Amino acid sequence: LGENLLSEKDYLDIGIIFTKITGNGVLKHKYQTLVRSILKNTRSPIHIHLITDDQSLLAAQHVTRILENQHRVPVKVTPYFLQDIAQQVKDVISIMQAHFSAKPGAYYADALFFISLAFYKAAPSTLKKIVFIDVDCKVVTDIRELFLHFSQFQKDNVIGLTHELTPVYRHVLHTYRAKHNNTPFGGPRKNGFPGFNSGVILMDLDKLRSSVEYASLLSKTVIDVLAAKYNFKGHLGDQDFFTLTGFEYPELYYVLPCEWNRQLCRWWEHRGYEEVFESYFECSDKTKIYHANCNSEFPDF
Ligand code: UDP
Ligand code: MN
Repeated sequence: LGENLLSEKDYLDIGIIFTKITGNGVLKHKYQTLVRSILKNTRSPIHIHLITDDQSLLAAQHVTRILENQHRVPVKVTPYFLQDIAQQVKDVISIMQAHFSAKPGAYYADALFFISLAFYKAAPSTLKKIVFIDVDCKVVTDIRELFLHFSQFQKDNVIGLTHELTPVYRHVLHTYRAKHNNTPFGGPRKNGFPGFNSGVILMDLDKLRSSVEYASLLSKTVIDVLAAKYNFKGHLGDQDFFTLTGFEYPELYYVLPCEWNRQLCRWWEHRGYEEVFESYFECSDKTKIYHANCNSEFPDF
């Protein structure tokens, strides 16, 4: 999908998980902010693939139609019901929930936080590439530029992600790091691997469909072994999976520059990591997508 293969008239396929909005006016507002930010900055038509439920879909369609009229960019919405996808890939989800959620009922325990890693199994075969974006993001450049990164993927790369910008995996790997003094895992970006953040995910669905290596990771045995090796008990859903498998299979992942997912969450700063926090958090390149994770606020423009 080089520059020459991506014309300005092509629909850009964007995945958005938008579900459980009942009684959650904030989430609807976040969806509006995200979609408005995309339409404001591009001339490319947008195809939104919405992982949703009945109520959330109605709200999204309403908001989307209004924004489409305001910005004069064509927008298509295709719904995928979270319940149906979760049912189709329920075995994978339950394997991952066991390792990557704090406890049943915890915020990140819901199936919605694991859908991305198995989405390619449920996606229509006509869909070749998709970029998933969290609703708590705001795009401040032409989103089309992001799709050009697919052409930078190496042969074995199937998914593109930016690094996590907090020491959360330093924390998760506490025991492992105490035994392995020089490990890059859980270290800051400069010369370590801080893990991945899943707020923005580039997925080459065709490569995922044919990757024997990636498919082999969606197994209880493999994840049990990896989790034991790294003493890894996660709590952040899909990004724990990408991070843990990224230790041993880095060739699967394209590292997207940090400005494409400028996380804003400072929760870890005052949880014993004051000294190192900035080395994780720094991303000096001009932000292209802000990610107001852990309910942070966007900066003023
Ligand atoms: N999400 C959703 N309904 C919910 C919670 C989350 O649709 O009730 C989706 C939404 O797209 C959100 C994403 O899941 O952006 C990931 O959750 P969140 O952004 O809250 O996690 P964080 O980035 O703060 O870790
Ligand atoms: Mn988020």
